[in-house]
Amino acid sequence: VTDAVPRAEIVSVGSELLTGATVDTNAAFLAGELTRLGFEVAGVRQLADDRRVLATAFAEARARSALVVVSGGLGPTHDDLTREGLADALGESLAEDPALVERLRKRFRAYGPMPATNLRQALRIASAQVLENPIGSAPGWWVDRDDSVVALLPGVPSEMRRMWTDAVSVRLTSRFDLRPLHVRTVRTFGLGESMLAERLGELVATPPRRGVTIGIYARDDGVHVRFETRADGSVVDALVERVRSLLGDDVYGTDHDELPRVALAALAQAGAASVSTVEVGTDGALAAILAGVPAEDGVARFAGGLVLADTSAVSAPPPADAVLRLVLQPASDSGRSRAEVSLDGPPSLSLTTDRVRIHGSGPQRLRRSAFAALDQVRRAAVESAASRSPHRAPL
Ligand code: ATP
Ligand code: MG
Repeated sequence: VTDAVPRAEIVSVGSELLTGATVDTNAAFLAGELTRLGFEVAGVRQLADDRRVLATAFAEARARSALVVVSGGLGPTHDDLTREGLADALGESLAEDPALVERLRKRFRAYGPMPATNLRQALRIASAQVLENPIGSAPGWWVDRDDSVVALLPGVPSEMRRMWTDAVSVRLTSRFDLRPLHVRTVRTFGLGESMLAERLGELVATPPRRGVTIGIYARDDGVHVRFETRADGSVVDALVERVRSLLGDDVYGTDHDELPRVALAALAQAGAASVSTVEVGTDGALAAILAGVPAEDGVARFAGGLVLADTSAVSAPPPADAVLRLVLQPASDSGRSRAEVSLDGPPSLSLTTDRVRIHGSGPQRLRRSAFAALDQVRRAAVESAASRSPHRAPL
């Protein structure tokens, strides 16, 4: 086992990526997967459907990196030139693969006659192994030659992901000596990035262990502290525990604990089995977020919400054990806004505050106000549940 982390490069093929008509989500998916598997992603390129450009780029990437993952340009039309580009880069020629022709004919039998142009998808170079595409017509390629691997995947995101999961990731883990990345995240709400860094002090100023990277990321649902290592995973587990004890109540969860679900679980703990909402000035951001939380035992059910244009409209929210109200004030010229949050629930579970400050603009401002309201709910519910706990001395 060596310490070296193999380098990978990602190439996204398609002229529509260069005009902004399509957002390159394939590269983001592949970058995340490759990093997690144990590669260092050294670069991502978006390239036009141009045979010469592709041939040059593939040759350069193969010379630099152990792995090149390409998506797009495997379709049947004349502008899909990824196969040709790789053939040129490797100095190989394309020939019809009878097995691929048969596979295409079979596939088209269900849809009527096969357009002749689809035969282009049966072309293969000698060193390419075929990667099955069970949900599309474009087969992928796995080319392992001269100490470097090139994988060609379809551009359609669902086909690309399916081929990645079924065929590519397993080949990569057996072909390369990989040390997977251990990632742990602590999720916080209520502290800004710089305040959080200050509270963590030494921990982020001087990384405590070699081989651990620390990132602080502001998201709509709070600030996340992320630890990564390719070494022993227990090192980052210990760091997570230290951050939790340093930040206390400002931590709402770790890893995949989503704030809305955490808030609804806290409500259930505090004795509210359901919640409904009334919101003003948010375009329904709060209801949209709560409606996306899967129903689950031990988590308060979202009974529905009212989205109002202003506070003068009087209507009753759907009946529920608790009602959460959020009023987002218009933003000031400097882009700041305030939100009022209140909660009416079972005894000992209530809150009223007009001190919630929201930064940001556009839809982000609206979503942030919804997450801020849910964080208030979480805090109130945790306090209420603690006051009901039998471990506490009676007041
Ligand atoms: P197919 O045979 O299915 O056409 P293909 O390999 O030729 O596959 P493309 O023609 O390059 O794929 O792309 C098909 C569609 O997939 C595009 O119109 C686009 O919507 C989507 N797509 C392609 N590349 C990407 C990408 N990098 N990120 C997100 N979507 C993409
Ligand atoms: Mg295409």
